[in-house]
Amino acid sequence: MTKIHMVDLVGQYEKIKPEVDRAIEEVIKSAAFINGPAVKRFQVDLETYLGVNHVIPCANGTDALQIALMALGLEPGDEVIVPSFTYVATAEVIALLRLKPVMVDVDPDTFNVTAEIIEVAITPKTKAVVPVHLFGQSCDMEPILAAAERHGIPVIEDNAQAIGAMYAFGDGTKKRAGTMGDIGTTSFYPAKNLGCYGDGGAMFTNDDALAEKLRMIANHGQSRTYYHDVIGVNSRLDSIQAAVLDVKLKYLDEYAAARNSVADRYDEAFEGAEEIQTPKRQPNSTHVFHQYTIRVRNGRRDELKEHLSEKGIPSSVFYPLPLNKQEAFAPFVDPSLELPVTEQLCSEVLSLPIHTEMDEETVDKIVDSVVGFF
Ligand SMILES: *Cc1c(COP(=O)(O)O)cnc(C)c1O
Repeated sequence: MTKIHMVDLVGQYEKIKPEVDRAIEEVIKSAAFINGPAVKRFQVDLETYLGVNHVIPCANGTDALQIALMALGLEPGDEVIVPSFTYVATAEVIALLRLKPVMVDVDPDTFNVTAEIIEVAITPKTKAVVPVHLFGQSCDMEPILAAAERHGIPVIEDNAQAIGAMYAFGDGTKKRAGTMGDIGTTSFYPAKNLGCYGDGGAMFTNDDALAEKLRMIANHGQSRTYYHDVIGVNSRLDSIQAAVLDVKLKYLDEYAAARNSVADRYDEAFEGAEEIQTPKRQPNSTHVFHQYTIRVRNGRRDELKEHLSEKGIPSSVFYPLPLNKQEAFAPFVDPSLELPVTEQLCSEVLSLPIHTEMDEETVDKIVDSVVGFF
């Protein structure tokens, strides 16, 4: 039996090796390492795939979030609503820009923020909201967009974990996660669903003026070479990474289907286990299963993790500590803030291996080990 991994990037590479190698070699031979044609090609292909007017590539998903916030022209102290149950980057950039992260709870079944949760947190100082499509499923965006519009608040979707997920509006319109708010952001970190072989990220928008601003900020606030209109940053996607991504984009839906078949088998196997809550599928969003995250309901999450580890099965806790309880955020959040769902999730969630190369034998072994524990 081969070693079990949370993700299998080597196995994935082996299947597309000739294409990837050719794409990388082409960039090396052209020496167009920065802003080469490969970047433009990937940008256009991703725009087509997402059905969005503008994709602005950048250096990583954290930069994408930071640049998105910078483009909104917020003032120090402005409030930005963000879930506490997310990766640190989502809230970190808010604090970094001297904005105030207003951390909110999430839905216990989908792990995502909802319009109701957001609306309660809105004050006259709220200047943006950052829903995160956690673990691969879109937030219920229609009511979130409606609430944001009622209050005149821009929406930045953190889509680092759900690229490719499709959301259906009540009228039947379908849109990809990350293309519904004012700006969407993503990460091409290797382990993400669309991952490169290093760091990478991008922003999406349908707004021409915002696209221009985002592009300018990512490029030193430059409108034309050596003329700088605003303070910006240096955040570029390497041509080599873009070349890899352009190859992998063609397989993204196939990869999502492979992840879904693993998720289906987990769902089925855990159906009878009352100690396990399987991830809830929302009727109006597809799930791309960046993570397959269960809740262990009997206080034995850590024990299960240890049990799996002894059997050679890795698992991860995303995330072990609410962001509002992290030391780094102490100066930014009210110490008396209580987010009971987030708190509970942090003690119950466990993400099992799920990736594009998992065979039945591996899934069976994991299933048997989990079910056997209870
Ligand atoms: C990975 C991730 C990011 C950050 O992406 P990087 O490319 O690592 O900077 C931001 N938000 C979420 C939810 C993520 O999962």
